[in-house]
Amino acid sequence: MSAVRSYHEIIRRIQGLPRADWKAEWIGEVSCLPVYAARRSVADDAPSVLLTAGMHGDEPAGVEAALQWMEGGDWHTWPVNWLVLPCINPFGWAHDRRTNAEGQDINRHFLDSDSCPEAKLVKEATAHQRFILAMDLHEDSDATGYYLCETKTQPPFLGERIPQALSGVMPVADNARLDGRRAQGPGWVLRVARRNDFERRRQWPLAFHLAARGTEHLLCSETPTRRPLDLRVRAHLTVLREALRFVTETLPVKPTRP
Ligand SMILES: [Zn+2]
Repeated sequence: MSAVRSYHEIIRRIQGLPRADWKAEWIGEVSCLPVYAARRSVADDAPSVLLTAGMHGDEPAGVEAALQWMEGGDWHTWPVNWLVLPCINPFGWAHDRRTNAEGQDINRHFLDSDSCPEAKLVKEATAHQRFILAMDLHEDSDATGYYLCETKTQPPFLGERIPQALSGVMPVADNARLDGRRAQGPGWVLRVARRNDFERRRQWPLAFHLAARGTEHLLCSETPTRRPLDLRVRAHLTVLREALRFVTETLPVKPTRP
C-alpha cells in the first residue's frame, strides 16, 4: 500500500514552528513514522488546553487546522499552556484512511490502549497535565454541515453558541440525529459525562479517557468533508476561538490583549 500524502511535510511544519513559542517533541514512532507533540508553556500555574487532530487519517481538515493554529499567532491572546498533537495517526494520514496500519480505529482503544500504539502514545503524552478544555478535530463524510459533540457535566454549554459563531463561515448540520445521537440543538450533540456511562462501554474514545482523568470540558469538532478544505479548516478554528472565549468567561482566565 503506497502513501498518497507526504508525512514529511507535516514533520517539516512542526519542526519549523518558532522555537521561542513552541517546543516540538518527538513522542514515539508508529509504523516507522514519528509522532510529534508541540507544547507551549506560559506559566506553571496557567490552565492547560489540549488540541488533538488526525486521529482518523481520512479527515485532513483537523490536521491542517491544528498546524495553522500553531503557525498563526492567535494563541498569544490566551494565557494558557498548550499541548497540541496535530497528527495522531501518521500512517492513516499518509494513506488517506481512517484506521492505523493494523486496521484499528484508534478512537475505540483508549481503554485497552496496550493493543493500539497510537492511543498509548496519546495517553502517555497527556498523562501529566490536567486540561480545562480538550478539543479533538474530526470530519464527517455524511454530514451536510458543521456539528460539535460536547461532553460536560453541567451548564453553561458552548454548543448553543455554535450556529451564531459559524454564521458566515459554514452552515451547521440541522439533523435531528448527529453521529448516531439525538441533537441537543442545531449542530450540537451534548453528552453529560457520568462515570457509569463510561464503565458500561469497552471501546473508549479519547474523550472518555480524558473525562475519566478529570478533564471537565471536551469537544469533538466535526466538519463535513464534502465542503472545501479551507472552509472546514476555518470552521474548526472559528469554533476553537469561540471555545477559548467561552473558557475565558467561565473560568478566571483573562485574555492578554483584545
Ligand atoms: Zn474522526
